[in-house]
Amino acid sequence: MTAQTMEELVSLCKRRGFLFQSNDIYGGIKGLYDYGPMGVEFKNNLKQAWWKSMVYERDDTEGLDASILSSPVVLKHSGHEDTFTDPLVDCRACKSRWRADQLLENNKCPNCKSEDLTEPRPFNLMFKTAIGPVDDGSSFAYLRPETCQQIFTNFKNILDSTSRTVPFGIAQMGKAFRNEITPRNFIFRVREFEQMELEFFVKPGTDDEWHEYWINKRIEWWVNQGIKKENLKKIEVEKNELAHYSKRTVDINYVFPHGEEELEGVANRTDFDLGSHTKNQNDFKITSEVMKNFSSTTKLAVQDLEEKKWYIPYVIEPSAGVDRGVLALLNEAYREENVDKDNKRILLSLKPHLSPIKAAVIPLKKNNDDLVNLSKEIKSNLQTLGLGRVVLENSGNIGKNYRRHDEIGTPICLTVDFESLEDKSVTVRDRDTMKQERVSIENLSEYYKKYFN
Ligand code: ATP
Repeated sequence: MTAQTMEELVSLCKRRGFLFQSNDIYGGIKGLYDYGPMGVEFKNNLKQAWWKSMVYERDDTEGLDASILSSPVVLKHSGHEDTFTDPLVDCRACKSRWRADQLLENNKCPNCKSEDLTEPRPFNLMFKTAIGPVDDGSSFAYLRPETCQQIFTNFKNILDSTSRTVPFGIAQMGKAFRNEITPRNFIFRVREFEQMELEFFVKPGTDDEWHEYWINKRIEWWVNQGIKKENLKKIEVEKNELAHYSKRTVDINYVFPHGEEELEGVANRTDFDLGSHTKNQNDFKITSEVMKNFSSTTKLAVQDLEEKKWYIPYVIEPSAGVDRGVLALLNEAYREENVDKDNKRILLSLKPHLSPIKAAVIPLKKNNDDLVNLSKEIKSNLQTLGLGRVVLENSGNIGKNYRRHDEIGTPICLTVDFESLEDKSVTVRDRDTMKQERVSIENLSEYYKKYFN
């Protein structure tokens, strides 16, 4: 079972500290959300799982963490200054603004239903900001609209500082900004979000095969995070809807509570980006339409040692949204169950590696020195195993603690009672089955580690 409505998720997220409307006490800003105590842990765990699979578990990738402020020159050559737009229409009657391609009823204002709309015009989605102390418009930067451009501009730095040869990839996670015309559907479409992007460089001619490989690999990864395969759809982007750099793009869609939409895109960006950022394009046979007037001083190419000539690699890009991942996984994990004929519970049946809290240690009696001290010792021992956050719950209300930890997806709760002082054991309760078993404190580390493997 998943959540029935977006409202159920929004309510859980606020109640349990996953997500808050940003700048809330001043009325909020549309399209911005803050991750609370549970949200930040969950989001970090998701990013860590991605990093693990994209960098640590592979032998053909490197990581990068580049700056957010981006030179307009970079975004000129990437094509963003000219083409990173959405079609904007104004309603002349109520003065609201909409994305023309997202109007539910053709040529009708979703707000007042007037048909008096302007013709669509391109609206650039990039945020601009001044650089340096003088704001006279001559020195500005963009907040990056996607994380990958700095991967391309660092291509040679990474080649020169490692011993990589094609095929290889560069992974990066981090913030991206888009001045979306109509942010909506909770954290699905926001103005500040995070991406997890891999740019995988391959020899032209092998690109189609690598593209297929990454499409399948990414679907498999989402399934491993806990999304049911039948809720993921592989959608071929129509030729006339492809981004300016793309030879072929396959979207991995997810059935969100508001409908089926893109979770991740896997694009074959050809040699467009490295070609665009390369000086002396005429030295290479670049298949895509590249920019004139180069100002890059670097040749972003590699040498084919067999054929003894330089070429610009093609790029396969799996690009996932962290926030959309958070929303999809919360939705997948959401359950409402009858505990008995009078009681219901809500739980997040998250995979343990994603759970914000890995274990809660609960002394049966609040502020009882013996129980609290033993609980603190257990908590600190489990914490040093480095599997994620473990908490001590010194509130004395076991039922309330179980309810809270079910709702935030904590896989196990450990209760320390008076018997624990004698038999050196604790009661471990499993989130999903609610089964309880007694485990000796001596064996707790091993038990806990096995649980997470
Ligand atoms: P959409 O068509 O939904 O606007 P897009 O095709 O423009 O998305 P990409 O440019 O392919 O998106 O970005 C890669 C990923 O970044 C998307 O699959 C999505 O998960 C995430 N993403 C893009 N825009 C947003 C946004 N405004 N809010 C949250 N995540 C986003």
